[in-house]
Amino acid sequence: MKIAVVGTGYVGLVTGTCFAETGNDVICVDIDANKVEQMQQGKVPIYEPDLDVLFERNQRQGRLKFTTDLKEAVDASDVIFLALPTPPGEGGAADLKYILGVAKDLSTLITKYTVVIDKSTVPVGTAERVHAALVENLDEALFDVVSNPEFLREGVAVDDFLKPDRVVIGTDSKRAKEKMRRLYEPFVRSGNPIIFMDLRSAEMTKYAANSYLATRITFMNEIANLCEKAGADVDAVRRGMGSDSRIGKRFLFPGVGYGGSCFPKDVQALAITAGQHDYNFKILDAVMDVNTRQRFRIADKLEQYYGDSLKDKTIALWGLAFKPNTDDIREAPALYTIDRLLEAGAQVRAFDPEATEHVRAIYGDKVTFCEDQYTALRGSDCLAIVTEWSVFRTPDFDRMKELLTEPVIFDGRNLYDLQRMQEAGFHYDSIGRQPVQ
Ligand code: NAD
Repeated sequence: MKIAVVGTGYVGLVTGTCFAETGNDVICVDIDANKVEQMQQGKVPIYEPDLDVLFERNQRQGRLKFTTDLKEAVDASDVIFLALPTPPGEGGAADLKYILGVAKDLSTLITKYTVVIDKSTVPVGTAERVHAALVENLDEALFDVVSNPEFLREGVAVDDFLKPDRVVIGTDSKRAKEKMRRLYEPFVRSGNPIIFMDLRSAEMTKYAANSYLATRITFMNEIANLCEKAGADVDAVRRGMGSDSRIGKRFLFPGVGYGGSCFPKDVQALAITAGQHDYNFKILDAVMDVNTRQRFRIADKLEQYYGDSLKDKTIALWGLAFKPNTDDIREAPALYTIDRLLEAGAQVRAFDPEATEHVRAIYGDKVTFCEDQYTALRGSDCLAIVTEWSVFRTPDFDRMKELLTEPVIFDGRNLYDLQRMQEAGFHYDSIGRQPVQ
């Protein structure tokens, strides 16, 4: 098939590259001319494991192209994916200006039957608004609008796209349905379902899934906080709970709150959708409140431990990305932690394997950015761990003790065994477990 992907961020670039990998001709459009130029020269503008290999192969073989010219992409395709941002707008609802703006442009550019597919996360009813924008200048027979929410996770985006648990397609058109089935069949050969449904249900499915996952994390964060007070160990509780097949083991890890470009904005947008339908979706309000508090959990622990003297301390910070294996720092808990520490007058020495440059662009020389995790420890009074990169999991504890002024670790991701830390002689305070001295 001939495919255009409008918006080449985490979702658009992975979508375009993976469709090229299954033999389609893909042309990706972005308004960011710099980014397009980089991609034309073979540079992948984001960090996402395995993306570079697929990107290089498909570009070399001529199936993956890049342009800033929407018309060129529309002329070359019969299927157009919209993978545009839907950030929180005024009042927190999803801002649809990118989606509706491009839909308006498409209405004057489409000249043959085209399926316009919304891959962005958009509130219930958006497909109808896209339809309305297209029909302003376009015969209804020339297009169908489809909702195809994306469930990939940053950090494993390529793998998720190539082997999705399920594909959700919202459409009321038989013709579009067949095209979508053909497009996705190569990705579900092992038997995972392509689930067809109406447009509104597809749009709601994405918000329901993300809000449920955010709720699950938040619930575990609450359990963890209570474990600390009640003398229990959340790791044991998590294992005990997760072995119940009705609950399951995944996504039960407590931490410093959810972040990233999706959960915070999607939970908020769903709460607003509920309000627009006169429905008081109470759980979502609680989830947002708890998460706002939880992302300061490590900063709180540092403040409690050091009191007023935090202002004379240097804190080593491991992990800046909102989760491992990505360079994405949108709504990253590390940023909230840094803000609080700087406000308290502390010095911060930070290390992240991929996200450093993005964070440097925000803080400049207010934060010392280090080349590796051990350099961050040199002369620091303690270590705070905010993102669970694998490289932090089995560090050289002896070396850490030598580099730190004092053997003190605050761990927002529960990376280490309590007994081991006690034996190694650290003061070690994690989430939902009793501190060891
Ligand atoms: P992103 O911010 O990484 O990328 C968006 C891209 O669109 C940017 O490259 C930007 O330059 C481009 N763009 C903006 N306006 C444009 C225009 N008029 N024409 C062409 N390009 C334009 O966004 P993302 O993280 O890929 O997310 C896109 C959508 O997918 C959002 O709705 C998001 O909620 C959803 N989503 C994201 C993820 C994720 O993990 N990032 C997962 C599932 C769904």
